[in-house]
Amino acid sequence: MTDQTSTAQPIEPITELATLSPSRASDFKTCPQLFKFRAIDKIPEPKTIYQARGTTAHLALQRLFDLPSADRTPDALFDLFRSAWTELRDSEYPELFESVEDERAWGIESLTVIANYFSMEDPAAFDPLDRELDMLEDLGEMTIRGILDRMEEVGDDLVITDYKSGKAPPERYAIPAFFALKIYAALIRKRTGRTPNRLRLMYLTNPTVYEVPVTDSQLDAVERKVKALWDAINRAIAREQFPPKVSRLCDWCSYKPMCPAFADEVVTPELPTAVGT
Ligand code: SF4
Repeated sequence: MTDQTSTAQPIEPITELATLSPSRASDFKTCPQLFKFRAIDKIPEPKTIYQARGTTAHLALQRLFDLPSADRTPDALFDLFRSAWTELRDSEYPELFESVEDERAWGIESLTVIANYFSMEDPAAFDPLDRELDMLEDLGEMTIRGILDRMEEVGDDLVITDYKSGKAPPERYAIPAFFALKIYAALIRKRTGRTPNRLRLMYLTNPTVYEVPVTDSQLDAVERKVKALWDAINRAIAREQFPPKVSRLCDWCSYKPMCPAFADEVVTPELPTAVGT
């Protein structure tokens, strides 16, 4: 799952939301200050080997389903990962590694991680309805945008799936990750008139699938929550108030060195080491 918020270019001051992605909506819920750093100030975050793995794995998994079903093998996925990394390395992640040896070790570990995919499902057994769906939908007075990883039919069910290249948290901590998927489900319902009835998170590092059912009434509630968030974000923009919300996630937040909540701390500005995509 990918959001389309640019983080690279300085822009005109934002006076109200034009669009909101599920990822940024989750950011605001997690910490309004985090949302401000990412979506309002658009301060670029350091690129990490974990993001590089996630981006490359997403592209390889997307392309795996371009192959005939019989060819969707681990070796094919490894080849797709290597070719995707060749494409992304210079354009997206120049100078990520200090040495060829570091890059090679990352590559070997990455292949081990993506091999885990095959312990969770057999890609030869189905053809997704769609992959990398570019979503841009109006929900009431809001415009929501983002990219959904995958959607398929399983029997009579319509299932939407989000790949996570990082490590699965304990199940109770995965619940917030379903919030973004529920927003995508509401967008799919709006676009197609059909309600996805199962949401899946697939974690590659410690192969884990979390799945929840979803209903129309739950999606109605999600739309109301997103509208409340939309209004809260616009109030925060108007008042220029984005209070930091300190939590255990701060230890993985790349903005911690500049965060007002930690202004009195001496923070060593190193990259986080345990972030998954
Ligand atoms: S360090 Fe914590 S409080 Fe500060 S922006 Fe990041 S998540 Fe929010």
